[in-house]
Amino acid sequence: MKAAVLRGPYDVAGLDVEKPQAGPGEILIKVKACGICGSDLHTYKLGLFPEITKEVPQGRIPGHEFAGDVAEVGPGVEGIAVGDRVTALTMGAMAEYVIVSPAVPDFLVFKLPPEVSYEEAATNEPLATSLHAAKMGTPANGEQAVIFGAGIIGLGIIQCIKALGWRCRRSLSSTHRRSGSR
Ligand SMILES: [Zn+2]
Repeated sequence: MKAAVLRGPYDVAGLDVEKPQAGPGEILIKVKACGICGSDLHTYKLGLFPEITKEVPQGRIPGHEFAGDVAEVGPGVEGIAVGDRVTALTMGAMAEYVIVSPAVPDFLVFKLPPEVSYEEAATNEPLATSLHAAKMGTPANGEQAVIFGAGIIGLGIIQCIKALGWRCRRSLSSTHRRSGSR
């Protein structure tokens, strides 16, 4: 199968690597969408966080924000079937296929509702980071919150705050206008 293989800082190549097979307790996912995390960029530029990549003989495959279709179900896996649309927690998803081990439904593997696209589902992992940060803030009613940074995590925190019922009093664009008029 084809995979994006990191061989060192600033050295990534599309290479043929051995296609994995689902063993006992594992599933194989055909990747349909995979995001690039900020930590992937640190790995690409500086070689940091090798633990968020999957080691292969040719190097390391990054990618942990992804979604796809279940292609194989190993012995002993229950509640997941071939063809299920899923997202999951694992590494090495910048490839045609990725293994999830162990494949535990609703813990490491999550089925997608039909209205959620693969691309949207690939943002599930960073959105979980945003949700965690929003909950750690635990603002009470009437308190104001400041979110530093408007990348995918910061924007996700804004969405989580709204979804959790905390009122957003100032929009990003009005803040920009205010600072721009100074
Ligand atoms: Zn990430």
